[in-house]
Amino acid sequence: MRANTRAAEKPDEMLGLTRQRRLVLDVVQRDEAHPTAAEVFDQARKAMPGISFATVYNSLRYLKEQGLVREIPFGNGASRYDRETARHDHAICSACGKLVDFDLPGTVALTRAAARASHFQAESVHLTLVGLCPKCRDDK
Ligand SMILES: [Zn+2]
Ligand SMILES: [Zn+2]
Repeated sequence: MRANTRAAEKPDEMLGLTRQRRLVLDVVQRDEAHPTAAEVFDQARKAMPGISFATVYNSLRYLKEQGLVREIPFGNGASRYDRETARHDHAICSACGKLVDFDLPGTVALTRAAARASHFQAESVHLTLVGLCPKCRDDK
């Protein structure tokens, strides 16, 4: 029996999802660790051996433009891709690179304060906590 939740979703054709784009989207949605483009490519290649890195990269860009995934840019590192597109914050481990989601109360007030301080018109604010994850902290 087909799951009923499928029917509520837009069909792939309406979203402009080719087989490649659908595969790339599935890889990002399966992965809660916020994969890089290279990691998405590795996973996608297992399911579709002929897929190229350029196709994966262009698919990620397309999915981002459609609002289906979110790109988390890092100043000096590779961007990571996020299946969760609603506003949320991240904590990244400075030792192993593990990236997790969290939600902080009070971000509305924080956004206002950031807008005042920067003289920007605020759209959103995104926090990245950098530190040691529980596992790396225990390993010390
Ligand atoms: Zn860690
Ligand atoms: Zn996230």
